Amino acid sequence: MIYLDNAATSCPKPREVVQAVEQALSDVCANPSRGAYELSLQASRALLRSRRAVAGLFGIDDESRVIFTLNATHALNLALKGVFSARAPERGAHMVTSRLEHNAVARPLATLERRGVAVTRVPCTPDGTTDPADILAAVRPETRLVVLTHASNVLGTLLPIAEVGLALKEWGIPLLVDSAQTAGCFPIDVEQMGISLLAISGHKGLLGPQGVGALYIAPGLELETLVEGGTGSRSESLEQPAETPDRYEAGTPNTPGIAGLAAGIEVLVREGVAAVGARELAMARRLRERLAQIEGIRLYGPANGTPAAPIVPLAVEGMASADVAHVLDREFHIAVRAGLHCAPEAHRVAGTLETGLVRLSIGHATTWADIDAAVEALTEIAGKPAEHWLKNWEKMNVR
Ligand code: PMP
Repeated sequence: MIYLDNAATSCPKPREVVQAVEQALSDVCANPSRGAYELSLQASRALLRSRRAVAGLFGIDDESRVIFTLNATHALNLALKGVFSARAPERGAHMVTSRLEHNAVARPLATLERRGVAVTRVPCTPDGTTDPADILAAVRPETRLVVLTHASNVLGTLLPIAEVGLALKEWGIPLLVDSAQTAGCFPIDVEQMGISLLAISGHKGLLGPQGVGALYIAPGLELETLVEGGTGSRSESLEQPAETPDRYEAGTPNTPGIAGLAAGIEVLVREGVAAVGARELAMARRLRERLAQIEGIRLYGPANGTPAAPIVPLAVEGMASADVAHVLDREFHIAVRAGLHCAPEAHRVAGTLETGLVRLSIGHATTWADIDAAVEALTEIAGKPAEHWLKNWEKMNVR
């Protein structure tokens, strides 16, 4: 099987990650931060090691500001609802966002809008290019937050995080960045890019297991809690502790997943994020170049040569995106994602809301042979009429 759905989750995971999860389950399965006995301390040390790995990767000075979450969605909800729920009663609270956001941002924003927060969505070109001047021009005196995805999970387009972040820092307005599609592929430094809140998915480019993510909260920024409960600290009080990470991490954490995340980051650090990213981007470039030559295939997203995440979105003339993905899976054993990719607004931007797109996404385990195989399969698919493939399915009775 050829796996080209790394924008959803990285697969397969590195051997080191599998081993770290297994070791955590078999050797340190006690609750961290709850007991003074050796096994519990070992579990606490596993969390600290992972927190330090996340902090190191993103230029974070104080690892206690790294909050472990279930995934990027949980981190984004904590950030968005944490900034606004305390402030929503303040009439006219406003925020700025892009038109490329995943539903992990768009849906909590819709909830905030129902609570009275005003949202400006900054326009962009059909390939998702968003001018930093337009983002900054949308900021008003009542703006409490700007939230931007670092890269579109549909089009691959990068947003101008550093330009916006550094200007916002001067104005004292926090920038929340969704790094789900860039962490592990592009170097990210919260200080150099002016990022106050960084939502991190542990199971994509960071190569960790599913069920782990993180939120970085800049020093001095206090959020309303999303979940309250036991932390193993200040247990006599009914108030959630003020100290991070305990303030935002209640209940027993996913210790095996968090240990696996540390192992994934260690693989990336050993190989170098810049080197891993350069390889993935070179593969995406080759894929786009070759697909552009195939009649009947239309590519979306920024033109080749423009920096973008290693995502190649396309349509095959005369075929529904779900059908193309189905043929790739059934006949060529290539796994890709079709449809709207949980980001309907990005499809509206690209003009593909009705049809969806086929998304090929490259990751750490992708090989050049995978790229060749995808090109050959798509050449064959586009070279035959849609009925040919549909007829085949009826025979195979797979629909
Ligand atoms: N944001 C973007 C841009 C994404 O692509 C995704 C995953 N599809 C998410 C957020 C959600 O990530 P997670 O699965 O870790 O919740």
